[in-house]
Amino acid sequence: MNEKPVENVIIVGGACAGYTAATYTARAELEPLVIEGFQWGGQLQNTTDVENYPGFPEGIMGPELMQKFRDQADRFGTRFITDDATRIELSDGGVQTVWVGDDEYRARSIILAMGAEPKRLGIPGELELGGRGVSTCGVCDGAFFKGENVAVIGGGDSAMEDSIFVSKFADDLTIVHRRDEFRASKIMEERARERDNITIKTPYVPEEFIAGDDGKLAKIRLKQADTGETEELEVGGAFVAIGHTPRSELVVDQVETDDEGYVITEGKSTRTNLAGVFAVGDLVDHTYRQAVTAAGTGTMGALDAEWYLRDVPPSPEAHWSGIAGEAQPEAHDAEERAEVSTS
Ligand code: NAP
Repeated sequence: MNEKPVENVIIVGGACAGYTAATYTARAELEPLVIEGFQWGGQLQNTTDVENYPGFPEGIMGPELMQKFRDQADRFGTRFITDDATRIELSDGGVQTVWVGDDEYRARSIILAMGAEPKRLGIPGELELGGRGVSTCGVCDGAFFKGENVAVIGGGDSAMEDSIFVSKFADDLTIVHRRDEFRASKIMEERARERDNITIKTPYVPEEFIAGDDGKLAKIRLKQADTGETEELEVGGAFVAIGHTPRSELVVDQVETDDEGYVITEGKSTRTNLAGVFAVGDLVDHTYRQAVTAAGTGTMGALDAEWYLRDVPPSPEAHWSGIAGEAQPEAHDAEERAEVSTS
């Protein structure tokens, strides 16, 4: 039997949204438990300069920003488990359960903040040249390529949006897409086509990102999809914009998600179709996917969870009869909690 008391709130995910939710719930004295993942920090952990996070006019390195997010949550007593959640059992208004290996944690509410990851091409040089010319975020990194020739890979709205944004800085920008037809909405495609410094190259498949003598991206080897002929495109930057995959694999069969696996939330809230289950950050966001927007929804998730806990008190009958799956008052007693790191 699980001897650990039922928590007020468990937050799954240690990045912008999760840590912000932790700071808010910790300051609300809900004593959150964050299962932050073994490789906590999310996409910013692989990012160099962040120049668009408000409050840092000189810019800040991605990992340093994540450390600050974490420190802030820590300051108010957040407890962290630096490991991956391996199983989640969601309940509609009952007790939410998360496993980290054999260890089981229960809570009256849960904030899902597992994020999304950019899809990769899976070709040589892609990971090796990350931060040295190859990027998965045009809005984040476009301004670093002022006056350079760059490529954007992909044919969806993300590729068009990245191209339009990055073309404000780059000299020449080539959109490389594997088919002649675009998946992007017509209006976005037209906007990209209208820009003087954007060229469209189809149907071409990237085969390799090649570094120059300075160790930075210098060219991309492309294969013409119909003829199989290869050629090299000289670029200082490449943006891989072929979509994202939400990290909803542990909950996709339990909570309402859309066709692509993003968790669906109600209106402008972070409420899911299950009472006591909230979802925030890139796990729910097709469109904006910025550190600051993820942090914003982390705040919303924390407030939604706080209001839920306020309005749905633990059932006394369930407590006295010890009915499994119901919350218990001692969830508020920090002394009796599971022994987890407060780093
Ligand atoms: P998407 O619509 O799935 O498009 C992905 C693109 O990448 C497709 O053109 C696809 O080619 C290509 N691709 C996928 N895997 C590839 C590979 N291995 N090699 C080469 N190319 C590959 O993804 P998205 O553009 O990120 O958009 C996702 C959703 O967000 C959409 O609903 C979109 O409308 C929305 N969104 C909206 C906006 C906006 O309105 N401003 C901005 C961004 C995103 P194929 O077409 O050949 O499959």
